[in-house]
Amino acid sequence: MYRSHNCGELTATNINTEVTLSGWVQKSRDKGFIVWVDLRDRYGITQLVFDEERTSKQMMEQAQNLGREFVIQVKGTVIERASKNPNIPTGDIEILVSELTILNESILPPFTIEDKTDGGEDIRMKYRYLDIRRNPVKNSLIFRSKVSQEVRNYLSKEGFIEVETPYLIKSTPEGARDFVVPSRMNEGQFYALPQSPQTFKQLLMVGGMDKYFQIVKCFRDEDLRADRQPEFTQIDCEMAFVEQEDILNVFEGLTRHLLKEVNGVEVEKFPRLLYDDAMRLYGNDKPDIRFGMEFGELNHVAQHKDFGVFNNAELVVGIAVPGGNSYTRKEIDKLIDWVKRPQVGALGMVYSRCNDDGSYKSSVDKFYDQDDLAKWAEVTGAKPGDLICVLSGDKNKVRAQLSALRMELAERLGIRDPKVFAPLWVIDFPLLELDEDTGHYHAMHHPFTSPKPGQLELLDSNPGDVKANAYDLVLNGNEIGGGSIRIHDKETQAIMFKHLGFTEEEAKAQFGFLMDAFQYGAPPHGGLAFGLDRLVAILGGQETIRDFIAFPKNNSGRDVMIDAPAPIDDKQLSELSLKLNLKS
Ligand code: ASP
Repeated sequence: MYRSHNCGELTATNINTEVTLSGWVQKSRDKGFIVWVDLRDRYGITQLVFDEERTSKQMMEQAQNLGREFVIQVKGTVIERASKNPNIPTGDIEILVSELTILNESILPPFTIEDKTDGGEDIRMKYRYLDIRRNPVKNSLIFRSKVSQEVRNYLSKEGFIEVETPYLIKSTPEGARDFVVPSRMNEGQFYALPQSPQTFKQLLMVGGMDKYFQIVKCFRDEDLRADRQPEFTQIDCEMAFVEQEDILNVFEGLTRHLLKEVNGVEVEKFPRLLYDDAMRLYGNDKPDIRFGMEFGELNHVAQHKDFGVFNNAELVVGIAVPGGNSYTRKEIDKLIDWVKRPQVGALGMVYSRCNDDGSYKSSVDKFYDQDDLAKWAEVTGAKPGDLICVLSGDKNKVRAQLSALRMELAERLGIRDPKVFAPLWVIDFPLLELDEDTGHYHAMHHPFTSPKPGQLELLDSNPGDVKANAYDLVLNGNEIGGGSIRIHDKETQAIMFKHLGFTEEEAKAQFGFLMDAFQYGAPPHGGLAFGLDRLVAILGGQETIRDFIAFPKNNSGRDVMIDAPAPIDDKQLSELSLKLNLKS
C-alpha cells in the first residue's frame, strides 16, 4: 500500500496516528540537526520532520539528500507542529518519519514548481507534465472537470443522451479549413476531421434520439488568433420537436445551473437582445453588458453643420466615458493614437468634455455650440464629469472601432469585473453574410440554419435582410455558445444551398446524405454548441483558455512537448500513396 492518506487531509484530529504517505518533494529545509520536507501530491502539502534525536543517522542522511521532485514514500506518526501554518489545511501537524523509501529520483526541474514560477510560457509548455504539478494549472484542470461533470449532471437529468460521433468524416460546414487525414485503404482519398458534429447530430434527430449531447473535440485549421486552439472542445447539443424558445430555455437553464453549482452565483433571467440592437448599441454581436457605455448614434444631431468629416460619414456614433473629463489633454491624445492604431483603424476621434458646471468643451467647438453638444450628451447619456468620444465613417467599420474603444476603456476603468457574470442571448442573427472580397453571400451560422418564418421569399430580393432562427449565448463579452433551429425539409435545404452558390451536384456530393435523410421523416429540430474551453475559463475568472487545457498547442499550432506536427518517413508516405510537394 503506497499510502493510507493523501497529502492534503491530515489535521490535528489525526495526531498520534500511524500513517503512510507518498508524493513529491516540494522543498526541504535542512538545519543540520533537523530536516523538514514538504511532501506534495494533488491534494496538498504535508510537512515531514526528521531530527537527530528521533531519526537514525542513515535516514537523516537520506533526508538531507532528497532533491526537489523526488518521489518518496514515508511511514510515520502524526504529531503536533511547534509552529503552525494557518494557511494550509495540514498546517497544525507534521509527520515524524520512521521509514523513508525513495520511489524515484528526479533530475532538477527546468523551472520551479511553485504557484509563481520562474519558468516562461515556452519552457512550461515543453515540460507541461511538470507545469501540471503547479497549483494554478492543476486547479484549472480540476475546475474544468467539475464544469464537465455539472454539464453531464444537468443534461442527463433533462433527458439528454450522450452519443459519440466519428472523427474521421467528410468536410463539415462551419466555415473554416478542414484538417484532413489520408486514407491508406482508399488511395488518394481523405477524411476530414469534424469542425463540429453538426451533420451527425442532425442525423441523430432523424434517427429519433430526441435529445443529444456530447462533450466533443472539434478541429478547425484556422490561422491562430490569440487564444484559439486548432482542436477545441464543444458541449454539442441537439433537440427534436423544439422551437427557438425551447432551446433558449433549456440552455439558459444549463448555464444558470453551472453558475450556481460552480460559482455559487444566482443569475436572473437572461436578457435577450436582437442582433440588430446589439450592433447598434454595442457595435458587437457579443456585447459585454457588465457595464453601460452604450453607443449613441449622433447623425441627426451632428450632421448638417459645417463639419465635413461628419457630414460625409455613414454613421457618427459616440460613447460617454464615465469620469473621462478628468483625462488630461495628453491622455486624450494617447487615446486618439490608440484608435488610430492599424488594429483598430479609426481615422481620428472627436471628443467633448462634459464639465462639472454643465458646460461642454469639444475638439470641434468651431462647428458645434453648447446646445449641439448638450444634444450629444443627451444621446450618449453623458453626465457632468464624463468624456464623450465620437467616431465616424462606414457603419460597420466605425461600430467595430468604437466597440474596441469601449472595451479598452472599460478595461482601463476596471469595470470588467471577472467576478460579475452578465449572460445574455443575442437572437435573430442575419441568415447570410456578404463576403466583401468575393461579393458572395455565405451562411452566417451554417447552411442548415433556417430562415425566420415567411422570410424565404426575401432571399431573392434582399438576401442580406433575411433573419435566421439563430442565437448566441454571450457571457462577459465572449460568445460562449451558438446555434439555430435547422432546416428539416429537403426543398428548403436545396434553396439554401442554391443561394450559397452550390450547384445541385456540389450540394449532393457534399451533403447528399443529409438531404436524403430529410426525405425519411426528419422531425423539426434545433440545437447549439457551447465552447467548453472558453466557458470554463470565464467561469474560472480568466481570459485565456490555455491553462484549462491539459496539453494545449502554441500560437503556431505546435505541441512543443511531443514536437508535433512532424514529418513522416518515406515508407509511411508511400503506404499512403502520397508525394510531398513542399513550398519551402
Ligand atoms: N455546429 C455549430 C457550431 O459549431 C453549433 C450549432 O449550430 O449547434 O458553431
